[in-house]
Amino acid sequence: MNSKVRCSVCGYPTDEDAVGQCPECNSYVCDECIELYDSYCQDCYSRADEDY
Ligand SMILES: [Zn+2]
Ligand SMILES: [Zn+2]
Repeated sequence: MNSKVRCSVCGYPTDEDAVGQCPECNSYVCDECIELYDSYCQDCYSRADEDY
């Protein structure tokens, strides 16, 4: 009984226990996007980038 969630970055459906969550907004992020965005979702990553 695996529930599928969608990666909030690429929208790809993936198993809930195979994804990470953005520490800022708790949206699900798949493995690939976690590597791309440093374990944040795209939104929070670009926000942090602007702040910097
Ligand atoms: Zn993704
Ligand atoms: Zn986020």
